[in-house]
Amino acid sequence: EGVSAVILGRPNVGKSSLLNCLLREERAIVTAIPGTTRDTIEECLDIQGVPVRIIDTAGIRETVEAVEEMGIRRARQKLGEADLVLLVLDGAEGLQAEDRALFAVAADKKVVVVVNKIDRAPDLDIGLYGEVFPGLPVVGISATTGQGIHALEEALYEAA
Ligand code: GDP
Ligand code: MG
Repeated sequence: EGVSAVILGRPNVGKSSLLNCLLREERAIVTAIPGTTRDTIEECLDIQGVPVRIIDTAGIRETVEAVEEMGIRRARQKLGEADLVLLVLDGAEGLQAEDRALFAVAADKKVVVVVNKIDRAPDLDIGLYGEVFPGLPVVGISATTGQGIHALEEALYEAA
């Protein structure tokens, strides 16, 4: 029951770090190696009294490796079932073609745009993302320092 929210984004943007940050727990393995998350992880969050099932996914990308491909297939399935998508971007790297491709995959869902790693990009203008994704909530966060997490929870509450 409740709302289901899938965390979507390129490898290494900080999806698993975001899950851990929202859970206040080191639930998912975080490394600098792309492809670390190979399976989906589902946990329940309480956002101001609203139950939200949050799902960390293996990054959806082209791959030749069998186990990773199974993780990606599951991620696509979870995405299909989701009410809400947290599209995670790397604020330090800037927007890339793959980010837009993932957004296109999620376009029929409610999307919250999460600009992560703002600790590494202190001068970043989050408003620019509002122009790229008009009408969507955009929140700048750092999954490692916790900066912006309350604003994200607020955006999730409003979207859910
Ligand atoms: P995933 O592949 O999208 O799940 O990304 P991970 O959560 O595994 O993180 C990938 C790398 O980015 C790890 O080295 C993390 O420590 C780092 N990382 C994640 N979030 C942040 C952040 O907000 N700031 C910084 N500086 N590094 C981060
Ligand atoms: Mg991961």
